Amino acid sequence: MGPSTIADKVVVITGASSGIGESTARLLARHGAKVVLGARRKDRIDTIVKELTASGGSALGFTTDVTQRGDVEALVKGALDRHDRIDVLVNNSGVMPIAPMAALKVAEWDRMIDVNIKGLLYGVAAVLPIMRKQRQGHIINMASVLGFKVFAPGGTVYSATKFAVRALTEGLRIELHGDNIRCTMISPGAVATELPDSTSEETARKNLRELYKMAVPAESIARAIAYAIEQPPEVEIDEIVVRPTAQDF
Ligand code: NDP
Repeated sequence: MGPSTIADKVVVITGASSGIGESTARLLARHGAKVVLGARRKDRIDTIVKELTASGGSALGFTTDVTQRGDVEALVKGALDRHDRIDVLVNNSGVMPIAPMAALKVAEWDRMIDVNIKGLLYGVAAVLPIMRKQRQGHIINMASVLGFKVFAPGGTVYSATKFAVRALTEGLRIELHGDNIRCTMISPGAVATELPDSTSEETARKNLRELYKMAVPAESIARAIAYAIEQPPEVEIDEIVVRPTAQDF
């Protein structure tokens, strides 16, 4: 078996300004990874980069809106220019505005599709030529337990985007194994982050607040991501599901 390590890996993380992305950046940097962070809230990214750098880590930050293909390309190019390779992409950016279909929140449907599906695909498009040329790489996609079970009423479109992430990750795995590129899907249950805040419906927000009382810390997901990354190159962790013990779906 080859060496298992996180140290020195160049890891690009989208949605790194809060929650799971931020926690993953902090955990991986503590283990010696060179993290490259993207999100829209650059002030938050700058603070995280400053803190990680001050404690001896390697971190770089970019303003990245994953719905803009050019932004995602600039993030990946920034990582490549600095480090000469990309070992891992964590496609983590996501939004979850919950509302019944009958509320016709069409702009929110668009946003979920744009961030959760198209943003993830732009990440894939940006790293694929590089990883194929390197003959190695690792794409980690953030799905959800709601990518296995439709959360309705309220989460129908969100679930649809996460079902899509499942299909995409499995398709990528099948297509890319010949290029020595690993693909991993992480499916969390309730995790204590800002994600439920993207819900504009008052009743749904109230229900989510109740549900999220059982939520586990973001670091529980960061640890799962680290576990997938630290496997020796010939070992691919395809899927990890992490739920609060108290969660039944
Ligand atoms: P947060 O809301 O804390 O983080 C979401 C991240 O996505 C933020 O960093 C945000 O950054 C980023 N983001 C949102 N829109 C965009 C955009 N247009 N371009 C770039 N980045 C964007 O929630 P989580 O940490 O919980 O979410 C991370 C992932 O985990 C998501 O894919 C989510 O679906 C998934 N997940 C979370 C669960 C949970 O219970 N928390 C459960 C299952 C899955 P910024 O606003 O600065 O751009």
